[in-house]
Amino acid sequence: MTTPLVKGWCPGALRPMPSGDGLLVRVRPSIGRLTQAQAAGIARLAEQYGNGQIDLSARANIQIRGVTDPTYAQLVMGLATLGLIDATPEAEARRNIVVTPFWQSDDGTTKLTERLGSALRDDRTLALPGKFGFAVDTGATPVLRDVSADIRIERDATGNLLCRANGAASGARVTSDTAVDTALSLARWFISSGGRKRMAVHLADGATLPSAFTAVKAAPMTHMSLPMPGQSASGFMIGLAFGQMQARTLSALADIAPLRVTPWRMLLLEGLISAPNLAGVITRADDPLLRVIACPGLPGCTQALQPTRPLARVLAPYAPVGRMLHVSGCAKGCAHPGPTPLTLVAQAHDFGLVRDGNATSTPQHPPLTVEQLLANPGTLMENPNALPV
Ligand code: SF4
Repeated sequence: MTTPLVKGWCPGALRPMPSGDGLLVRVRPSIGRLTQAQAAGIARLAEQYGNGQIDLSARANIQIRGVTDPTYAQLVMGLATLGLIDATPEAEARRNIVVTPFWQSDDGTTKLTERLGSALRDDRTLALPGKFGFAVDTGATPVLRDVSADIRIERDATGNLLCRANGAASGARVTSDTAVDTALSLARWFISSGGRKRMAVHLADGATLPSAFTAVKAAPMTHMSLPMPGQSASGFMIGLAFGQMQARTLSALADIAPLRVTPWRMLLLEGLISAPNLAGVITRADDPLLRVIACPGLPGCTQALQPTRPLARVLAPYAPVGRMLHVSGCAKGCAHPGPTPLTLVAQAHDFGLVRDGNATSTPQHPPLTVEQLLANPGTLMENPNALPV
């Protein structure tokens, strides 16, 4: 199996990542929210300077695809006009925050996130690893427990604020006034205690947290089901197949309401009380396309060994309710690091089949060609052991 290259850093707007279809430019909206003018502006810029395709990332960011070297500078100028550019690439990288999209205007989440964002932007001494990130999960119910983060500001079982190192079962009691300083002191401890990449790995390797960060028990880690398209107190959530849309879809969404970007490849239309009537968006929780996950694959990713999304789209109607299928363009598994009941991992000429594992797991079935998969989609989803060898 070909070993994928691990880059160890996330793209930004000021540090784009080369990809199979050009530069990938990732925009980190402040508090995970785009005003209608910002969303319309991103759609316009993606048409003008990219290939018109826009992704939602697993960290609730917006990605403009297919940008070329000659158009990149104009794109950044356009994003700066929309208020979506940080002062430096380092400030942008530090401001790696995912925030609950279900915040209410009176729950303190937006102020807390804004203060954390500006503290991270301004603290040039904080040399955090490329993927180190923060989660602000301070809505009425925690929703980010399964979303990647290293330092979490959340509520305990009594509803009070807690700052917790990811991987620890307890955290430090904080208030809205002390949460940001406490989170930054935990980040500094990570660096000074020899943390290299991620907090949970550092703790698993034996690092001992300062006592303040073990004082208060976190709320129980119950299994969380993924939020689905539909109505919530904050607005209407829509899904996007594979988290991707055309610029014209974003433009049409921008006409309806401000948008909150989520880490689940969905957008929340703020304040909207019914499903929008719009082509290219998923408004029903039972849509089969929500049961398949696929990274860009070929030709969008330089590391991909096969196209992924056309195959996932054809297999989607055969995925039973509650059974996810992940089609990965290589063994890196970017689109979904966690396990799924079925994962198809692209190899040079076929796909490996993994059951109850992820893209890095060893396939349990001899490789299957696209033709074999398409000839037996029902068997693949219901009884993969019966597939032809
Ligand atoms: S998993 Fe997909 S997106 Fe990630 S490196 Fe492999 S082919 Fe590219």
